[in-house]
Amino acid sequence: MNFEEIQLLDKAYIAQTYARFPVAFSGGQGATLEGVDGKRYVDFGSGIAVNSFGANDEEWKAAVIEQLGKIQHVSNYYYSEPASRLAELLCKRSGAKRVFFSNSGAEANECALKAARKYSFLKYGAGRSKIVSLKGSFHGRTLFTLTATGQDEFHKYFHPFVPEIAYAEANMADIRRVADKSTCAVIIECIQGEGGVNALNKGFVTALAEYCATHNILLICDEVQSGNGRTGKFFAYEHYGIKPDIVTTAKGLAGGLPIGACLFFESTEGVLAAGDHGSTFGGNPISCAAAVNVVSRLTEEFLLEVQAKAEYMRAKLKGFNGVKALSGLGMMIGIEVEKPSKEIVKACLEKGLLVLTAHEKVRLLPPLNITKLEMDEGLSILKEVLK
Ligand SMILES: *Cc1c(COP(=O)(O)O)cnc(C)c1O
Repeated sequence: MNFEEIQLLDKAYIAQTYARFPVAFSGGQGATLEGVDGKRYVDFGSGIAVNSFGANDEEWKAAVIEQLGKIQHVSNYYYSEPASRLAELLCKRSGAKRVFFSNSGAEANECALKAARKYSFLKYGAGRSKIVSLKGSFHGRTLFTLTATGQDEFHKYFHPFVPEIAYAEANMADIRRVADKSTCAVIIECIQGEGGVNALNKGFVTALAEYCATHNILLICDEVQSGNGRTGKFFAYEHYGIKPDIVTTAKGLAGGLPIGACLFFESTEGVLAAGDHGSTFGGNPISCAAAVNVVSRLTEEFLLEVQAKAEYMRAKLKGFNGVKALSGLGMMIGIEVEKPSKEIVKACLEKGLLVLTAHEKVRLLPPLNITKLEMDEGLSILKEVLK
């Protein structure tokens, strides 16, 4: 099909929940994608931090194909090697004790929030169910995680929301005001992605972790976007030297296949029991085999390369006309720009570069294995567009 044919069917038959850009991709290699019209694009978005090793990665494909040749799905009533192996890798890597697998970031957070309420119920009985989230946060589109998303613009139409969720500014005075005796958990993104690629202040995050520990409030780190090597560490919270009780991740974990993971640490490892939670597709063997490949390749050596690439891109970007400031951490790059960010995205697309926005900022989330040539090619287009 050519682009017009694809677009026509989309407009006729797909729920119009996305304001799509006028392009469809037929394939790609690494951080270079090809449109159905044959045009080349440098990819600084990775499908929103999903394609950790870009398109068409040989090693990743081999892992997926090997599992496809065995079996594509097994029920969670049975044991499964790819899920067992992935859980072990994630636990050994992070210090977590147990993992629950789902299919998306929202579901990983849904699991974390449910577990937090059960933890508190088991320990204190009913009435300690408040969840505190930060203003500007994004935690997903299910009703629970949408309620926990601290941005009013998402809270239209869908009332009534899940009760007992409150929002705080990212400072301790506001946390103390909002997180009272009825609070079971605080959920944070160390680097708010959708909210504007804002890294939380280190002093605030360490004080918050201390406050939570003192009051036996669970600290949940949403690493759906910032995890899996994106910031140059396996998880972004490692930059902050804190120990969360629950960590969720998804986007880049399986390098392009649907997966979500909720990691329980010592304090929470025994909270969920048989029958408490479940998912038909959760822990899917293909997704888990893909994730085993991704996680095994995120070695310390590789993460140092990610940090070096991020420094290279940031140093170049700093010198560009039209760049007011940079934000985020590692390969999660926010650019404060002079022109409207949406116009920049459109202009980049026309010139063959894929970038994202986060509100008024331009957001870059390149594949972690992007080459110097691809970085330079994309940056030169961005330089042209920004000035
Ligand atoms: C994308 C995202 C989610 C939601 O993930 P889905 O897979 O779209 O459900 C949750 N939290 C954060 C921080 C995200 O960036």
